[in-house]
Formats: sequence, structure tokens, C-alpha cells
Amino acid sequence: GPGLKVISTLSVGFDHLELDEIKKRGIRVGYTPDVLTDATAELSVALLLSACRRLPEAAEQVKSGGWTTWKPLWMCGHGLSNSTVGIIGLGRIGQAVARRLKPFGVRKFLYTGSGPKPESAAEFGAEFVPLTRLAEESDFVVVTCALTPATQGMCNKDFFGRMKKTSVFVNTSRGAVVNQEDLYDALAHGQIAAAGLDVTTPEPLPTDHPLLSLKNCVILPHIGSATYATRSTMAVLAANNLLAGLRGEPMPHELKL
Ligand code: NDP
Repeated sequence: GPGLKVISTLSVGFDHLELDEIKKRGIRVGYTPDVLTDATAELSVALLLSACRRLPEAAEQVKSGGWTTWKPLWMCGHGLSNSTVGIIGLGRIGQAVARRLKPFGVRKFLYTGSGPKPESAAEFGAEFVPLTRLAEESDFVVVTCALTPATQGMCNKDFFGRMKKTSVFVNTSRGAVVNQEDLYDALAHGQIAAAGLDVTTPEPLPTDHPLLSLKNCVILPHIGSATYATRSTMAVLAANNLLAGLRGEPMPHELKL
């Protein structure tokens, strides 16, 4: 409405806000960085392991009677030991994901972004590479960047075409970073091994969406930050942002426009 003075979003992402209009009208925006980093990184790791070790598919086999005599290659997947992990966007969540994945025996971390970040990368010995090289060399690609005009549709036919047949793709950022038709083709034709998505376009994803027909695609309903403790902390921060904004005081976390 015309009287709108303050927006407080219960998220670190702000791609859902019309920033040009907000800036023009002098509206202040509060958001919730940091407090959801751990929960979202944890969920990213859970989703990666679910996709690469085929957990939903395997659990379904137990229920359906598909579990019969032991077979050496039945329900095999790809593990993290000695792997190369590519992080698209080594920000707060990207670093927290790398920190959690390192003890699994990852051999090498690669990352992309608007430029090298030596301080953030040092902890993991991560190498800054172009997106094409990240696609070609990674056994696991984890997308943790912000959705911007530059990242929209970044994971497309060319990107998936460069990935290895044995590689696993995970997205916990925003659905629009991925071209979903291209991802569907890559998964359906065995161009990549598996995918795990916490975010889709649209949300909710229609239950008859083609991606849901694939065994090698694990899809979650945008639950990255969904722990009781994190959502509670986010709610308090968002309320304090809003109150500070309405009082004309500095917000605990204000988005600099
Ligand atoms: P940060 O701002 O800390 O990190 C964002 C990263 O995106 C930065 O490292 C930035 O790199 C990178 N980036 C920007 N442009 C590009 C580009 N062109 N190519 C590659 N990387 C790029 O944010 P957070 O880590 O806190 O959050 C990241 C995103 O995760 C949020 O924007 C949100 O969309 C999503 N999210 C999802 C949740 C879920 O429930 N699934 C929960 C929380 C967040 P650089 O600094 O080099 O530009």
C-alpha cells in the first residue's frame, strides 16, 4: 500500500522483493541473515546424502518388497570420499556446507562467485574457478548463491552437459537459478547421476510435475531453515527488525539498498 514504511522478511533471501520500487519509495527492509545458516547448511548436507546414496528410493524398496536377496550393486550410489565438491556461491551458507562436508573425506573444493574470496576459501583450500570448470570437475555441485539477474537460469543445458555422468547436483538456494527443463533432460537421459532440490519453480511444485516422476531426483518443500530453534530465532529477529524500523531506529539486520 501507499503507506508502507517498513518490510520485515522472515528470510535471508530477498529476491521476492521489488528492490527498485522499495528504494525509490524509501521503504526500509529487515531480513534474517546468519541465524539460519547452520540449519540450511545441515539440510543441504542431508539432501546431498539423500540424493547421492538414494535414500528415498531405497526406503521405498523396503516398503514395496523390492528388498530381496543381497546383490552387490543393488542401490549403489556415489560417496563423498576422495571427491571434488563445487560450491556455487561461497557465502555464509556455502562456507557452512563446505565446513560440514570436509570431514566426509572430500579431496578438493572448487567455488565460483563474483570474484575470489581468499579469506573464506582458505579454511577449505578451495580454488576459485570459472563456472564451466566447476561443472566439468565436480563430483558434487552444491548451489548456495543468491538469486540475481546474473545467477538466474545459470544451471542450464550447457552446465549440465559439462557435468560428469556420475555427478550429483544439489540446489538449496532458489529454484530460478536452475533451468528445470534442462535439469529434467539431464536426469532423464543419465547425463548426471542424481539431483537434490530444496527449492523449485514454482513453489509448491505441482504434484504432476515431470521432475517428480524421476527416481534420481529428491525434492523437498523448501525446508532449509526449518528447525524449531532456527524458526523461533528468525521470528524474534524479524519482529525486532520491524519494531526498530517503525520506531525509526537502526535495525538489528537491515538490508542495505
Ligand atoms: P550470502 O550473501 O552470504 O551468499 C550468497 C553468495 O552468492 C555469495 O557468496 C555470492 O558470492 C554468491 N553469488 C552472487 N552472485 C553470484 C554469481 N554470479 N555466481 C556465483 N555466486 C554468486 O547469502 P547466504 O549464504 O546467507 O544465503 C544464500 C542464499 O541461500 C540466499 O540468497 C537464499 O536465496 C538461499 N537460502 C535458502 C534457504 C532454504 O530454505 N533453502 C534458506 C536460507 C537461504 P560473491 O560474494 O562472490 O558475489
